[in-house]
Amino acid sequence: MTEPARPAAGDRPAATARELFKIYGSGDTEVRALNGISVDFHPGQFTAIMGPSGSGKSTLMHCLAGLDRPSSGSVRIGDTEITEMKDKKLTALRRDEIGFVFQSFNLVPTLTARENITLPAGIAGRKVDSAWFDEVVERLGLGDRLDHVPSELSGGQQQRVACARALVGRPQILFGDEPTGNLDSNRSAEVLSILRNSVHEYGQTVVIVTHDPRAASYADRVLFLADGVLRDELEAPSVDAILETMQSLGGM
Ligand code: ADP
Repeated sequence: MTEPARPAAGDRPAATARELFKIYGSGDTEVRALNGISVDFHPGQFTAIMGPSGSGKSTLMHCLAGLDRPSSGSVRIGDTEITEMKDKKLTALRRDEIGFVFQSFNLVPTLTARENITLPAGIAGRKVDSAWFDEVVERLGLGDRLDHVPSELSGGQQQRVACARALVGRPQILFGDEPTGNLDSNRSAEVLSILRNSVHEYGQTVVIVTHDPRAASYADRVLFLADGVLRDELEAPSVDAILETMQSLGGM
């Protein structure tokens, strides 16, 4: 492998949350979407966040990725504290340091696969490293699909384009919001293997939210959320171990 993901300095986490609270409403209608979460995401690690509906998974991911702001607490991406950052700077940081893969693919329908993959770099005024582009595209099996628009691609292919778009930028951290939620089990396995390999081979840091124990079993670490709190954590989990933990936490 010639092109590692951007190396992280020493053991510095790729992302850190400290005492994160996100509170909606007040009094009787108050909802604590995040109720004091502290967690580190280490470079070159694949983390899955699980928990029942309403447990705060999306809120946590959105706060980590600078798409939402916590009520209090701190989020760092690498060495950079983002919680107090001005919108413009935060937008630039998201563009330069963070990759996203969404459940709904979020490709631009009028652009080809190639144009979709290079769009973020284009917007940032950056040149795409063509050797790295070629390698990612080849690894993801998209070589003969580059001139097609999304409607000419299967769901699995569209999600592979979204993965390529995220990986080509070599982000400090890649977030996936139910990245396999719209895919059948074969296509899910394909996309999860791509994310897994990006961690293994390029040292990419990946964090996904999923409700699927099979998807979570691709991760190095699974975090279990309930009621806005981190309730448990598993390392190198099997599907059975994940199911067991979900059950012990009250059948997530
Ligand atoms: P999950 O992703 O685990 O399903 P969310 O992070 O979406 O959970 O939501 C956590 C809690 O915060 C839920 O109780 C949800 O209803 C509440 N919540 C999320 N967004 C808002 C909002 N904009 N206004 C009020 N409550 C919200």
